[in-house]
Amino acid sequence: AARSGGEAAREYMPSMGQVFLRRFQLVTQFRSALESGQVSVHYQPKVALSDRQVLGVEALVRWRHPEYGALDPDEFVPAVEAAGLIDALTTFVMERSLEKVREWLSRGLRISAAVNLSVRNLADTEFPDRVADALERHHVPPELLTLELTESGVMADPEKALPVLRRLHAMGIVLAVDDFGTGYSSLAYLRQLPVDEVKIDKSFVLGMGTDLGDLAVVRSIVELGHSLELTVVAEGVEDDAARDALTAMGCDVAQGYLISRPLSDSRLEAWLRARTH
Ligand code: C2E
Ligand code: CA
Ligand code: CA
Ligand code: CA
Repeated sequence: AARSGGEAAREYMPSMGQVFLRRFQLVTQFRSALESGQVSVHYQPKVALSDRQVLGVEALVRWRHPEYGALDPDEFVPAVEAAGLIDALTTFVMERSLEKVREWLSRGLRISAAVNLSVRNLADTEFPDRVADALERHHVPPELLTLELTESGVMADPEKALPVLRRLHAMGIVLAVDDFGTGYSSLAYLRQLPVDEVKIDKSFVLGMGTDLGDLAVVRSIVELGHSLELTVVAEGVEDDAARDALTAMGCDVAQGYLISRPLSDSRLEAWLRARTH
């Protein structure tokens, strides 16, 4: 049975050639996909655990490909990054996000937007100037923009990343460490970064209801984060039990399917209207 299962699985597995071809296509098509409206930004709300107020949204890129359908960012972001096109992606997502924040401000809502950065953005010494320019053009105060970075993104080239992060931080932008707890994240590492927020990796939050190890990791990140005066965000909050446990631990912010899935622009507006009226 094991062997026939293996053979069945092999039949549906794309060949190496197909994988490379698809990657190559995605990379060569990416710029025109940005221009033709195939690429869009979805937004996932982040709420305060104390009073459920909507504090911000995380911007998550989506690509509706004419041939392959809805593509997962985990599939094309690394390819786009490797091809040196990440600037175009980050700029696109940031422009859309700042337009949204500006639109909300005009309606009297203070909701921040969080944009995911890649290693390459952190190695780009001109990146902070472009962010400053974008904030100015959109008339958005820096504290309503959060930039999310991962440990591997910083550690790839700390000599380059640290000055970039310091400049962004000095501008008043909120910096968040994403996927914390995976990799070699440590107290020493967090202390040396100019960051304001730590996001507990969703794998621990998803596991905390059934795995005491995951629960212990979540609890210690909340304590560590607070001892460093950071805002602690839990992602992957899928049920009431997780939300209640996080609230009891004093975790500050929740993000996850329990609150909302990532939403298209128009769905987000409907969601916000239902919450804020
Ligand atoms: P991430 O930054 O860790 O984003 C959170 C991911 O968790 C998102 O996946 C989101 O849809 C998913 N998620 C949110 N709540 C829950 C939940 O309750 N349960 C579960 N199981 N999952 C949840 P998504 O949108 O597929 O994005 C995957 C990754 O792609 C992101 O992980 C991020 O690393 C990357 N990414 C997305 N958009 C961008 C972008 O604009 N630029 C860059 N550089 N990377 C991006
Ligand atoms: Ca993120
Ligand atoms: Ca994350
Ligand atoms: Ca991730």
